[in-house]
Amino acid sequence: MRFETLAIHAGERPDKTFGAISVPIYQTSNFAFEDVGKTRGYDYSRTANPTRKVLEDTIARLEEGKAGFAFATGMAAEATVIHLLKAGDHVISGDDVYGGTYRLFQNVMCDFGLEFTFLRMNSREAIKRAIKPNTKMLWIETPSNPLLNIVDIEMVTEVAKKRGILTVIDNTFATPYFLKPIKYGIDLVVHSTTKYLNGHCDVVGGAVVTSTDELTQRVQFLLNAMGTCASPFDCWLVLRGIETLPVRMKQHEENAMAIANYLKKHSKVKKVFYPGLDTHPGHDIAKKQMKGFGGVVSFEIKGSIENANTFLRRLAVFSLAESLGGVASLAEHPATMSHASMPQDYRAKIGITDELIRLSVGLENIDDLIADLEKALKHC
Ligand SMILES: *Cc1c(COP(=O)(O)O)cnc(C)c1O
Repeated sequence: MRFETLAIHAGERPDKTFGAISVPIYQTSNFAFEDVGKTRGYDYSRTANPTRKVLEDTIARLEEGKAGFAFATGMAAEATVIHLLKAGDHVISGDDVYGGTYRLFQNVMCDFGLEFTFLRMNSREAIKRAIKPNTKMLWIETPSNPLLNIVDIEMVTEVAKKRGILTVIDNTFATPYFLKPIKYGIDLVVHSTTKYLNGHCDVVGGAVVTSTDELTQRVQFLLNAMGTCASPFDCWLVLRGIETLPVRMKQHEENAMAIANYLKKHSKVKKVFYPGLDTHPGHDIAKKQMKGFGGVVSFEIKGSIENANTFLRRLAVFSLAESLGGVASLAEHPATMSHASMPQDYRAKIGITDELIRLSVGLENIDDLIADLEKALKHC
């Protein structure tokens, strides 16, 4: 079965009890045993739940991995994965990862004896130089948030595999529709399903997909031990969202490409960040490893933070809001919103300026979206 078909049929569907076409929401904490010591496949919903299982199987099939796991949030998924390590281990992470990922590593996990090096993941030599005897994990995000930097996944997994280092990718931006990281040797894929996989801004969720039986067992153990799993209702919402993922991603990309090309020519725009533009430094790698470039476009407005604020206040179709990946278009200011948890000097170092604006391009009519940007830019 191909991607579009799997998005609708993967996992146990229709449900085997009554043939329900929409996956039933098994809103239950526990399950009656068939006999002493004998379950019907489920005992307690933290460990496993039938609604969650369909979502987990679906995401695993879409990512072409071994098994999937659904979490309460993207951060719950990441917190669980980082617990595969132990005190004294060293992690090399992209320096431009999601702000909350940076915060989890730098402000939480550091206190538990994990050691982190944050690095731009575009140089094989720089990665090799950063590897220490205790390096156990390489963590990448591509395209990155909010700068849309591209990492050459095969380059990273090649370096890691030779040294037995675990590789993790945050595939939230591309989704498996555009990028299948396990094919390039990645060990673990994490997602914020809050974004494109659900796609309707009505749930927070996360997912992990494994590539080996050993990792499957370890992640299943941690999910159950830590209790970071998603609720049945949230799983049902994400399942419903995934059914339309292919058509949504196609349209997100078409609209994003049109907006990137529009902004590129605008006199009030200093710089556009979109991997679909052939001027983007990661364009060739993106083209090689991805089927499409995604729906997020960032740009720097000319002038100062005041110009960025004016622009954001004048938008009408785009809402000023955090998050991304929904059908409705959103605009946000990374320096004061999504990436405010990074210290100012760190943001400056990695290129998140005060004039940077991130657009999550939705599925509205492209002419209405461009007219909205045009009107707002006129006032800047
Ligand atoms: C939003 C996001 C997360 C965190 O996910 P939550 O569902 O908000 O916890 C992680 N990584 C990326 C790339 C994100 O955009």
